[in-house]
Amino acid sequence: MKVGVVGAGLVGATAAYAMVLRGSCSELLLTDLDAARAGAEAQDIAHASPVSHGTRVASGPLEALAGSRVVIVAAGANQQPGESRLDLLSKNAAIFRDLLPQVAAAAPDAALLIATNPVDILTDLTVRLLPGRAVLGSGTVLDSARLRWLTAERAGVDATHVHASVLGEHGDSEVIAWSSVTVAGLPVAAFMAARDLPWTTDTRAEIEAGTRGAAAAIIQGKRATYYGIGAALARITERILADRRAILTVSAPTPAYGVSLSLPRIVGAGGVLNTVMPLLDAAETAALDVSAGVLRAARANLAEWASEA
Ligand code: NAD
Repeated sequence: MKVGVVGAGLVGATAAYAMVLRGSCSELLLTDLDAARAGAEAQDIAHASPVSHGTRVASGPLEALAGSRVVIVAAGANQQPGESRLDLLSKNAAIFRDLLPQVAAAAPDAALLIATNPVDILTDLTVRLLPGRAVLGSGTVLDSARLRWLTAERAGVDATHVHASVLGEHGDSEVIAWSSVTVAGLPVAAFMAARDLPWTTDTRAEIEAGTRGAAAAIIQGKRATYYGIGAALARITERILADRRAILTVSAPTPAYGVSLSLPRIVGAGGVLNTVMPLLDAAETAALDVSAGVLRAARANLAEWASEA
């Protein structure tokens, strides 16, 4: 099964590398405006193939995406220190208006998995540009992983046994859905009490700050984030290819909020199959409304939505 990666920068190349190491697909095609970069990344990643899963890795022009079942889009500008994801909107929207119709024409059967920021609004823009196409954004899959990891550290367990969702914007207004966090099937507070571990307002505030501030902290230290998102993109892609019906907090158009944002979704062949609204308390429900409002307000800066502002 073939997967395409458009934008072979740090995020796209790391996703491709993760897919080779995990054996996510049989064939990978990297393409970038900077053909030399895509070629060099493809060559470097291909050298991991014989010692991992034997994936065929190549680079080429957009037309070489033909036959892809999933295309990951990670093309565009990334955040500079001090910049928010929403600051990237006009630059990356301009790239998408030109690029996405070409990607869709080159890979007519592919689900489009958007990673470029601001990912929620660019998911909406892609849906607007390409009606009828399977489109989803990586959304808060990465943020949920950060929340799970930080909670697991406190719980003293393997992070794969923590279930937790970050909802709403992949960005500053994202919502930590504490009501639905479980460890070993127990509500997190019950798990911590059973193990005699601290679980206070301060503990939650620290985890929340660590989740929300992770990207800024990493960008401050090494200029970009890519390993976490690379693994998340590999995971989402595998779930689509294998029609796994996995629950992932990907971003997709959500009529109740009038914008693309992240909620737990059932992901399989064709992308998002359904949405599973978690049980939220009143504060979480209100915070999700605020997050949706932030996204709608930012999206109104795009010409496509100007009349709705
Ligand atoms: P990067 O600068 O390393 O790579 C971006 C690549 O896009 C470059 O190689 C550039 O040549 C290419 N590109 C630009 N315009 C193009 C076009 N029209 N056609 C083809 N290729 C084009 O940046 P990065 O660190 O890989 O980040 C990429 C995007 O991913 C950014 O928007 C960043 O904010 C986002 N990101 C998203 C998440 C997430 O959770 N969704 C996490 C990290 C980064």
